[in-house]
Amino acid sequence: MKSSPVEEQCKNMYETGLSNHVIAKQLGISRYKVWYAIKDIARKKKPREKIYFNGKVYRLYPNGYFRTTNNGGPRTYLHRDAWEFYSVYKQKIPEGFDVHHIDLDKKNNSKENLQMLSRHNHSELHRVLDEKDGNKKEG
Ligand SMILES: [Zn+2]
Repeated sequence: MKSSPVEEQCKNMYETGLSNHVIAKQLGISRYKVWYAIKDIARKKKPREKIYFNGKVYRLYPNGYFRTTNNGGPRTYLHRDAWEFYSVYKQKIPEGFDVHHIDLDKKNNSKENLQMLSRHNHSELHRVLDEKDGNKKEG
C-alpha cells in the first residue's frame, strides 16, 4: 500500500532520529498513527551502536549522532554532553550555540574534536566547507 504524505513525513522525521512522541506532537497526529507509519522501517532497523559516557548510555541515531535513550528525562546528544563535561568550569552550552566536530566525524566525541560555535557561525562554517570540496558531511 502506498504511504500518505503524512506517513512519508513520519518516516523522514523518524530517520532523522526523532522519537514517535515528538513526531506525533509536531505533526499534530496520534502516536498510533506515527507507529503505524514507521513500523516497517523501525522493524528493519539493526540494533543501534551503543556507548557509555559519564554513566549514561548513548545510542547511535540515524542522523549520525549519539544520543541518550532515557525515557522520561530529556534526551541529550553526546557531543553536547561531552563538551560540557570537558569544559574547565563545567560551563553549559548557551542558547543558540552548537558543538562542532572538528574532523567532521560525528562519532568522534573526544575532547580535542569538539568546538563550541554560535549556530550562525556553525552553519556558515559548514557552508564554506561544502563549497570548498563538495563535502556534504554535517558533523
Ligand atoms: Zn559542525
